[in-house]
Amino acid sequence: MIKHVNVKTGARVDLIDITSEIEGLVEESEVGEGVCYLYVPHTTAGITINEGADPSVRRDIIHTLQKIVPRDAGYAHMEGNSDAHIKSSLVGTSTIVLIEQGRLQLGTWQSIFFCEFDGPRDRRVAVKIMGSKEP
Ligand code: ZN
Repeated sequence: MIKHVNVKTGARVDLIDITSEIEGLVEESEVGEGVCYLYVPHTTAGITINEGADPSVRRDIIHTLQKIVPRDAGYAHMEGNSDAHIKSSLVGTSTIVLIEQGRLQLGTWQSIFFCEFDGPRDRRVAVKIMGSKEP
């Protein structure tokens, strides 16, 4: 079964820490050893794993993506949000985290971030948890 995490974004571009929501789903699933697939079904958003401890890392990522992909650069797409589409492709729309002893195997400083590039909007992340149940 696929579960969903709803994410309400509050800015045009934002990285939102969804680690605790995903951990909650892993706990609920009672999977002891397996994998957690995360998929973002949007064309102007993405998902990434990076440092969650220092919020300035998040700001640096946003700032650097803005520099690489400016808001206006003579894009052809009429909707006016080509920068968001390009950022979505750069960051990617899926990731996987391994599960062991019922816990996500993230590194000490790692968090899972939903990446909004054309907000604010109501978004969702599809989550598929697979593996063997805890004994
Ligand atoms: Zn568009």
